[in-house]
Amino acid sequence: MQLEPSSGRSARYQIQGVDVLSIAEQFGLPLYVYDANKIIEKIGDLRSAFSGVNLRIKYAAKALTNVSILKLMRQQGVEMDSVSINEARMGMLAGFAPEQIMFTPSGVSFDEVREAIELGVQLNVDSLSLLEWVGQNYGGSVPVSIRINPHISEGGNLKISTGHADSKFGISVEQRADIRRIVEQYAIHIVGLHVHTGSDFKNASAFLDGAAVLFNMATDYTDLRFIDFGSGFKVAYKEGDHVTDIADLGQKVSTAFQAFCERYGRNLELWFEPGKFLVSESGHLLVQTNIVKENPTRTFAAVDSGLNHLIRPMMYDSWHDIRNVSNPEGDEKPYTVVGYICETDTFATDRPLPEVRPGDVLSFENAGAYGFSMASTYNARFRPAEVLVYDGAPYLIRQRDTFEDLMRGQVDVPVLNTEEIAQ
Ligand SMILES: *Cc1c(COP(=O)(O)O)cnc(C)c1O
Repeated sequence: MQLEPSSGRSARYQIQGVDVLSIAEQFGLPLYVYDANKIIEKIGDLRSAFSGVNLRIKYAAKALTNVSILKLMRQQGVEMDSVSINEARMGMLAGFAPEQIMFTPSGVSFDEVREAIELGVQLNVDSLSLLEWVGQNYGGSVPVSIRINPHISEGGNLKISTGHADSKFGISVEQRADIRRIVEQYAIHIVGLHVHTGSDFKNASAFLDGAAVLFNMATDYTDLRFIDFGSGFKVAYKEGDHVTDIADLGQKVSTAFQAFCERYGRNLELWFEPGKFLVSESGHLLVQTNIVKENPTRTFAAVDSGLNHLIRPMMYDSWHDIRNVSNPEGDEKPYTVVGYICETDTFATDRPLPEVRPGDVLSFENAGAYGFSMASTYNARFRPAEVLVYDGAPYLIRQRDTFEDLMRGQVDVPVLNTEEIAQ
């Protein structure tokens, strides 16, 4: 989204020249709106940062799984990372070839892994027992990569940190010999090594630490095709936030990778699986203010949304910038912005905003990643519609839930359809 040049705070909020208020009017609220240009721009940033290596971007679909977003990624030459068989299937619906889809399950059943293998997606093995199972059932016929837990803690939010020693993810770097033993026993075909430490990394050093672990391990396997560095790119949620310097990261990681390829004797592919980095900034959750409540200690603005639509503030204490789209010129006052869910669902506390009046449209920024994809129907509320602004025009890419959606799958049991009251 950008402001019209020259008009300062009074500017109308626009996405690709389309007025946000007109989008709200056309599609109704609450509404997720995604800016395709922003996604394309982020893909470009990543590509130019890694222009010196054979880069493959595997979009981590769980961040925002709408099939139109997956198609946009595919159109841009981005491939896909999935964490469930259903995400993999959605990827195929979006037109991805199975071999373009990485499947990185964590603790899923062998049945699900079997389905994934039958689909033909690239399996990424997350435990010794799964590795053994692959060996027993498929020998060397299924090319697999291995997810390594490098035991790296780089700070960041513990709830999204996955690469430390106590994390459930990956096979511990200390079990290197066990991995090798199983691989040799069944002649398993190892084509990739993977690490996804999951933290919000601030600088290149954490990536380089993870990379060093994989480069070291790579000498155990002669037939590698790729090294996958996962994700962990930190994005800015508020002004002044420390973000991953992608150009700096690209330069440092590329240099280390090229040196590794030379030692290894072959040019491998370098993979990343960004979710948040690609889609966070593109997304805006538009809501309407229902009630403004002036309590003695603070002023609440209650909106027609809640943790059912955007759970990140409650789950991760995450910050989302808020804009008063309807009244950008109003006098600033602090508002505690809350939802309509019967649960504490605070989006922001004492946030200075241009005067918020009942009916005003607010926009939660940076809502593209883990926004809709974590939305629920809690309190029997509908999930919002989703709109993609593409090439200067807004397109509905998901309808708002309906009452039928809420009831779908519920079974009416005849024995309960009686007027008699049990004694
Ligand atoms: C969630 C996930 C990602 C994406 O993480 P972001 O922080 O959204 O970039 C990448 N790889 C794997 C295996 C994941 O589970």
